[in-house]
Amino acid sequence: MDHFYRYKYSNIELEILGAFITKINLISSGNPVSLCDIWCSEINLQSVDHSRRDIINLEDSSPIKIIDRYGFFRYSSDKKNPSLIVINEYKLKQHTVGEIKHRNYLRTVVLIHEIGHWIEYCVSFNLKRKNPIIRSNFSSNNSEFHELWAQIFTYKCLSDSDLLNSLSPTAQDYIAECKEVMLKLSEGQSHKYRTFKFILNDERASLDLIENCSFNYLFRFLERIRNKKRNYFQEFNRLMPVMDRMFMREDFGKDNRTSDKFKRQDCL
Ligand SMILES: [Zn+2]
Repeated sequence: MDHFYRYKYSNIELEILGAFITKINLISSGNPVSLCDIWCSEINLQSVDHSRRDIINLEDSSPIKIIDRYGFFRYSSDKKNPSLIVINEYKLKQHTVGEIKHRNYLRTVVLIHEIGHWIEYCVSFNLKRKNPIIRSNFSSNNSEFHELWAQIFTYKCLSDSDLLNSLSPTAQDYIAECKEVMLKLSEGQSHKYRTFKFILNDERASLDLIENCSFNYLFRFLERIRNKKRNYFQEFNRLMPVMDRMFMREDFGKDNRTSDKFKRQDCL
């Protein structure tokens, strides 16, 4: 058996990935991107990094890694050695012995979380730029921000009513289970994986905010924060509760322009 192989998407994962990548490509209009390669490892690759699990590599010569419990994202701007995601199947199996369904839900949650990291590094929501500018201080000492963002994105994908309504009933049921697994998992994780529940004063209000904001807001908000040079985590936390007020007016204008553009394309 191969110990390292390309990720095998389930049909339901293909449905949900198709749905949110369509949203990404619409919002990054002009910058459609291909998802990076995703691999699975039957070997516990992270054991080497275990003691440094929360640390992002900063050596100039090596790619940046964001290492999570069940997977990691590696960012690289080198075309010969591009960014990739690795799902740690070894760990998933180790922690879900005899619980195949639970393992599937957990794997999907991890997959979406790692795709969240790929988005923050590789997808530009600035129409004038094909690739985002990644500042060195974006990668350093921003572990809290990276996990906050990836968790917000994951929760958003698992709870957005628009997105879910576009899926088959089977996929909707599956995603509802994934959402429960994600929330349960986060309870036992370190603080940085739980901050998405505390953007506002209480957990329900925070989750409601994520559920109800649009992907458009969220991605453009990421773009705005990523361009700052300050403490990204603090900025994100400070601005997220008021982002609707920040974007509301211009968003309506943009939505109208976007739909006009698509109407025009439809006519062609
Ligand atoms: Zn992460």
